[in-house]
Amino acid sequence: MNELTLRERMAMVRQPMPARAPGERKANFSEVNLGFTAQLAVLEAERCLMCRKTVCIDGCPVGVKITDFIDLVANGDFDGAAKVIKQDNSLPAICGRVCPQEDQCEGACVLARKGKPIAIGALERFVADYERLNGLMTAKRPLVRTGKAVAIVGSGPAGLACATDLAKQGHDVTVFEALHELGGVLTYGIPEFRLPKEIVQAEISQLEELGVTFVTNAVIGMTDTLDQLLAEEGFDAIFVGVGAGLPRFPNIPGENLVGVYSANEFLTRVNLMKAYQPDSETPVYDVTGKTVAIFGGGNTAMDAVRTAVRLGATKASIIYRRSEEEMPARNEEIVHAQHEGVEFQMLTSPVEFLGDEEGFLAGMRLQAMELGEPDDSGRRRPVPIADSEWTESVDMAVVAIGNSPNPLLLKTAPDLQQTRWGTLVVDDETGRTSKKGVFAGGDIVTGGATVILAMGAGRRAAASIDDYLDTGMWGPGPAVASGLSGSQAISIQAE
Ligand code: FAD
Repeated sequence: MNELTLRERMAMVRQPMPARAPGERKANFSEVNLGFTAQLAVLEAERCLMCRKTVCIDGCPVGVKITDFIDLVANGDFDGAAKVIKQDNSLPAICGRVCPQEDQCEGACVLARKGKPIAIGALERFVADYERLNGLMTAKRPLVRTGKAVAIVGSGPAGLACATDLAKQGHDVTVFEALHELGGVLTYGIPEFRLPKEIVQAEISQLEELGVTFVTNAVIGMTDTLDQLLAEEGFDAIFVGVGAGLPRFPNIPGENLVGVYSANEFLTRVNLMKAYQPDSETPVYDVTGKTVAIFGGGNTAMDAVRTAVRLGATKASIIYRRSEEEMPARNEEIVHAQHEGVEFQMLTSPVEFLGDEEGFLAGMRLQAMELGEPDDSGRRRPVPIADSEWTESVDMAVVAIGNSPNPLLLKTAPDLQQTRWGTLVVDDETGRTSKKGVFAGGDIVTGGATVILAMGAGRRAAASIDDYLDTGMWGPGPAVASGLSGSQAISIQAE
């Protein structure tokens, strides 16, 4: 560790994340945040107090050895720092970019009490980028093989984290993905300007080096059922990490008008199908010079509205039924959106979408809300104000009020116990479902949550799958639904 005294370290300022200027970035899809230079990274790492009680590690759902890696950064050993992170997190360049660190490791940092926690996320991103850009990634297929085969259904962060740990144990791992590209929400949901796809691909390529096999365009439940994978395809265990990709709508008149999108469809078309490129085969509605309204207050809503700005909308607004204080989106995303000219219309809810004679969206009927008593989520409940409706014109609307689990796979596996919200019931510690040999984790269990929570669940399940493959012991089924239960969990992202 460096020679600075505690007092000197506490006096140092937190290094801000360098970012492209709003005027420049809102015209294209290039990444907004630029990342630390080596010099900034060392300066920031030198601020760490190296607490004996590592509360930051307790705040990380995958238990990254934060103080160890920061110590290495402070001493200029960036490759060593990357290797330390990789012991617990196989997707550090991704997590360094999209994790809500302010609620996790940085929220727990003792310097957070003074409002300037160590920029752990920015440091994680720096060392992961350093390792990748300098060709220092070194994943290798383990020589010792167990002869056991595991199928992972879904290639989002839950499935990828589970696959990594199992491959490192020497099991044969095959990931089945319904789409033609890997990564789940990391690829089809989170836009390029926040998470370049080249980075997602680079981190996934490390799993290939570990020996993981990927099968795309494989919709489990249609191409094969879980029973077929176990009985006919030779898999000894299955991890289900299929996420919660079914968009929810407010159930109001006019939702089927042309020009009303779910955030899922809008972002998938733009991110996965590259709808913003002129030669795209699946374009989105041309919003150049038009008015776009996004309904919701989570990360998905922020991604959708900032995407609309980049597609050329003249007016892009967030319409949210609570106040800014209750918005679940990361503060950084809200600030970035504000700087890019997004308008925020708080305490407002849609009542109806209005169409023209040809069935195209032309307007929306809105109503004012006020905050009442706290609901199950602990936030004050939005309550409509009587006789407060009004009409505004709008060219495109994007609904980003949350997702539910897609019932497709689960319909073909009736012996998997589900909650009334369609999420899977698992044992929290082990990820064990009610079906022998089948484990689950991520958004399919919690409802829409976060990348790192999905990864944590994938890792816990990998540990218990390894144990199951070793001992053949299948404990009692899950007693209770997962900690984040039902509508509360499903709402994390959006409402
Ligand atoms: P997913 O990422 O949804 O992956 C599931 C995968 O399973 C998908 O690829 C899907 O195609 C595949 N699949 C589904 N059914 C089948 C089937 N039958 N057969 C085979 N494959 C199947 N979290 C953050 O921490 N930070 C953020 O900034 C953030 N921003 C977000 C922005 C958006 C737009 C969205 C939608 C979510 C965001 N989240 C964010 C939430 C985060 O991305 C999710 O919590 C996380 O991706 C869940 O991981 P998962 O592996 O459970 O599921």
